[in-house]
Amino acid sequence: MTEPVEATLRGPQAYSLARRAVEAMEAASVWPTPLNFELWLQYLGDPEGALGREIDRMLAAGEPFTEETAGILAAEYLPRGRLTEEIRDAGRVLDRELSSVTEAISRAHKAQSDYGRTLEGAAGSLESADGAPQLRAIVTGLSDATHKIRRDNQALEKKLELSTREIARLSEHLEQVRRDSMTDALTNLANRKAFDEQLESACETALSEGARLSLAVLDIDHFKRFNDTWGHQTGDQVLRYVASVLAKAAKSPRVAARYGGEEFAIIFPRESLPEVEAALEAVRKEIGSRSLRRRSTNDELGAVTVSIGFAHRRASETASSLLGRADAALYASKRSGRNRVTCADWLDDAAA
Ligand code: GH3
Ligand code: MG
Ligand code: MG
Repeated sequence: MTEPVEATLRGPQAYSLARRAVEAMEAASVWPTPLNFELWLQYLGDPEGALGREIDRMLAAGEPFTEETAGILAAEYLPRGRLTEEIRDAGRVLDRELSSVTEAISRAHKAQSDYGRTLEGAAGSLESADGAPQLRAIVTGLSDATHKIRRDNQALEKKLELSTREIARLSEHLEQVRRDSMTDALTNLANRKAFDEQLESACETALSEGARLSLAVLDIDHFKRFNDTWGHQTGDQVLRYVASVLAKAAKSPRVAARYGGEEFAIIFPRESLPEVEAALEAVRKEIGSRSLRRRSTNDELGAVTVSIGFAHRRASETASSLLGRADAALYASKRSGRNRVTCADWLDDAAA
């Protein structure tokens, strides 16, 4: 797994990475705008990642790299940028609510002390009051002050209620933003960031509970040919189709994710090797069982197949080692003809 670009930009490689980004943009005839620069830094930091492959594809296809393109790529592949923006907005709303609540409270505080003074004044006047008209005037004054403080309190309650509601709305919105930042926009599966986190935490759980854990990686077969023949949009339709099969097969506690461009992964906590293998065989068969049609033209696209590799976590194995073995099994599936499932343990057995 590559180091996050932000860390690299504050490390020994910072200036050479920045220079390489500018040179790469120049070579591709892309303007060095701040957004393009950020995209290229991410690209150089992880050329094999989803963004890297998408930029490679666009450059290879000679697609023009416009400001609009950069915006679309940033929205899809630089979720932190949007997240920062959303968090800044949320911060502004919170500031506003907090200062208006503080103001309302200090107004209420002042009203309370005014009221206190009115009561004290009334107590003083009562002592020297002489006759009914004076008493009546004091009582009327007290009654007016009591009405006023009641109105003030009601206004404060109303204000607090509105603020509470606004803050609840905000917290719901932030929760949605958090979910979005973990979700792949095209397929609605967990994205790579969410997957990395889930795999780490699944490994920790497996370690602390001594529980089983398996990991599968899936890659669409000859997807480039598909894209080249039918175009990127139809390619995206295929990605969504594959994702829908995975989502159905990987109900919690399993986790399905889009790991990269046309690569997916499934985490299988607490399942035996035969159970995992059976589930993956079912996924492979189901994906290949349907003849797809191009939505826009109704052209027959034929079936799409996937190659799958999986590995069963060894005692105290790290997430990246597990991922490496699942990947090796995936490539064994590719080498031996595609559209098949391979377990990493079988490779070890064959090598032994
Ligand atoms: P193999 O069977 O060996 O996996 O062949 P392949 O053609 O699938 O493999 P390769 O990695 O060469 O091609 C993957 C292609 O996936 C390259 C790129 O055009 C395409 N791709 C990556 N991300 C996306 C995406 O988000 N949408 C679409 N439509 N295509 C994508
Ligand atoms: Mg691939
Ligand atoms: Mg592929």
